[in-house]
Amino acid sequence: MLLRHTPKKVMERTGLTINPAKTCQPVGAMYAALGIHGCLPHSHGSQGCCSYHRSALTRHYKEPIMAATSSFTEGSSVFGGQANLLQAINNIFTIYDPQVIAVHSTCLSETIGDDLKQICEKAKEDGKVPLGKHIIYCNTPSYVGSHVTGYSNMVAGMVNYFSESTGKINDRINLISGWVEPSDMREVKRLATMMGAKFTLFPDTSDVVDTPMTGTFEMYPKGGTSITELIASGDNKATLAFGEWATKDAAIKLENKCKVPFELADLPIGIKATDRFIQKMSKLAEVTIPDEITAERGKLIDIITDMHQYLYGKRVALWGDPDQLIPMVEFLLDMDMKPVYIVSGTPGKKMHQKLEALLSTKVPEAKFKNGEGADMFLMHQWIKNESVDLLIGNTYGKYIARDENIPFVRMGFPIIDRIGHSYFPTVGYMGGIRIVEKILSVLMDKKDAESPETSFELVM
Ligand code: SF4
Repeated sequence: MLLRHTPKKVMERTGLTINPAKTCQPVGAMYAALGIHGCLPHSHGSQGCCSYHRSALTRHYKEPIMAATSSFTEGSSVFGGQANLLQAINNIFTIYDPQVIAVHSTCLSETIGDDLKQICEKAKEDGKVPLGKHIIYCNTPSYVGSHVTGYSNMVAGMVNYFSESTGKINDRINLISGWVEPSDMREVKRLATMMGAKFTLFPDTSDVVDTPMTGTFEMYPKGGTSITELIASGDNKATLAFGEWATKDAAIKLENKCKVPFELADLPIGIKATDRFIQKMSKLAEVTIPDEITAERGKLIDIITDMHQYLYGKRVALWGDPDQLIPMVEFLLDMDMKPVYIVSGTPGKKMHQKLEALLSTKVPEAKFKNGEGADMFLMHQWIKNESVDLLIGNTYGKYIARDENIPFVRMGFPIIDRIGHSYFPTVGYMGGIRIVEKILSVLMDKKDAESPETSFELVM
């Protein structure tokens, strides 16, 4: 047993997190920045931080993640990192020639108080930013928030720097993507295109972190939202933002800066959240819902109905990010499953309120926690006291799955021991079908493995 030291007794803990259900802010900022075409993320801090952010993303996407660093030394840690960042900007534009450098801070540069705005302005004044090229930035102190906060800060930074209003409103809508896989971004675009909507999706990491093997290395793959589209987002008639934690700040900023009204939607995971997305999309883009999308919805419901006996009443433990967990809990309830334990290292009171509203009558025994102390250790303790039938979350749950012999569906970030997430979406109705298929596969594999000979079924 790898986690044999986890005690059953849950004790009050303050100031100690064990196996956190989150990662560091700059990882999110780096991922968001990769969703701009021709962008090179830049980590303003030590080389170690940048290596960690890059490797976290590379392990998940199985792609080389390009990023630069200010390479702090002991000297920059004491006297400030301005000289390093100015030198880096000069080197990057000269050698790597990106369209945009997206700078995020780190714990160290935040602690010593480096002012990214001032340094980036100085770089422009000193002529280190070639004509037509850009530097954007955001603050990502990793001792608060999580990778989701970093993602949100960088997306807000995109609006802050790029979005412009000319006063001439056009008929496109902005779709601000929450932290999802490139496959999910592609699926949102597919659905919006099927509806005939005119839209700009940002950030967009499809065709950036899921590129094909061609034999030629592309420093800047063909995907990503273009700078022209980002600038024009200020003239689009409305915004639909997916996920309170990852996109609300950017949507508010766009409304304040360019008067683009916004609606906030859950990530379209499961039936109801996808219904809401499709309806909001139809309203904002003034388009109708095609029969093909209604048919996809019907297929998802058909599969759930056919296999309901294997899903009904199953106790589920989930961990990950609030924007994914909330619609996922709703989806599990729609399938008559019981989400009993939920943890997220990402803070925010709203998560508790939303889960309370979803679970208080249907699963009153459910336990959930987010922010400080909401870690995988606590999750394991809850499971040791009363087990579950299914685990859903990132790769870090595999220790619990193995020790407790519980079927495990990998979802969220990071997934570093399986593939598929980059290519097969979990959003939309077709994504819902994939989630159900994955859940059923692990539950039925366990049933097959453990059924006595007398009740081993060929047809299930
Ligand atoms: S020091 Fe801070 S920014 Fe750097 S890797 Fe650690 S948590 Fe992330």
